[in-house]
Amino acid sequence: MSTSPSLISQSMPDSAATRREGSQPIFRGSDRCPVCGHADATEWLRAPDRLHGRRNTYTLVRCQACSLVWLSNPPQPSEMELHYTEAYQKLISAGGENSPQRWRARKAALTRYKQGGTLLDLGCSSGSFLEFMGQDAWGLYGVEISAEAATTARMKSGAQVFAGNILDAPFPQSTFDVITCFDVLEHLYEPRQVLHRVAEWLKPGGIFYVLVPNLDSAEARVFGSYWHGLEMPRHLFHYTPASLQSLAESVGLHKLSLETRRNPAVGTSLRYVWDDIFRAVGIRRTPVVYQGEAGFAWRAARKLVRMTVLQLLLAMAPLVGGGESIHAVFQKQEDGRA
Ligand SMILES: [Zn+2]
Repeated sequence: MSTSPSLISQSMPDSAATRREGSQPIFRGSDRCPVCGHADATEWLRAPDRLHGRRNTYTLVRCQACSLVWLSNPPQPSEMELHYTEAYQKLISAGGENSPQRWRARKAALTRYKQGGTLLDLGCSSGSFLEFMGQDAWGLYGVEISAEAATTARMKSGAQVFAGNILDAPFPQSTFDVITCFDVLEHLYEPRQVLHRVAEWLKPGGIFYVLVPNLDSAEARVFGSYWHGLEMPRHLFHYTPASLQSLAESVGLHKLSLETRRNPAVGTSLRYVWDDIFRAVGIRRTPVVYQGEAGFAWRAARKLVRMTVLQLLLAMAPLVGGGESIHAVFQKQEDGRA
């Protein structure tokens, strides 16, 4: 398959201020679980945006029935600009651009089930994964909220990329053999509606490959509110293997595989602990998101910690809990029920 047939008739409004997943009202300030509807959510923990070194504190609540955790009073979509800073975007693209081994592993996981067809990457960023998959066996599609990243993705991968919110994307029912969603679901205001759309867009027998941080991981348990994966307030939902599976099953997808993998960023979580210790004695350090600008002394200290404390923590992690990332593959029934 050389070129993807055009499913996207036009480019959509691309202002970053439209960072939301559709025109419905967003979930806000309720203690009713947005996935299973259970009404007894209780406070889980409070934490600030440690990545940017900010002080404003956010509260996470947890559903007693399905274990889903979410931000109880998230910033409005229009306010999110303040939290997705330029430095943050830089940090994320630096992490994603040069990771052929990461894409290779994901391609291998996916081709166990499908070796070609139509593939949609939700939150495709600048298209590195789509480019890696290539157009020989795949008709490539993407959805990306940032118009700039969407343009880069189109140029790099040749994919049809819809610039806008996932819930506004115009794909017909039963279009895709594969839908992927890497490190994106936790950022979305309306995960259940998005999953509904995924189930709708998949062909019968099509698969959904999703990757999210694991709230039940060793690192999350050890570091609590200092766990780097909390990413307040950019991560709106936090999943365990159980709550992710329950979300997928709630829209009729069934599990093919679900595993946790080590994706340690213990250095970042540890750094957050030290930031607070320093702050207690009146020393304010450069926030992690700007650490590329850190001086030589800090870089040398960091290297020393990596070689000592981190090695020890990594060796002990499997005793405490699962890996930091959940990799899950779900399937739409062959008979088309979703
Ligand atoms: Zn629930």
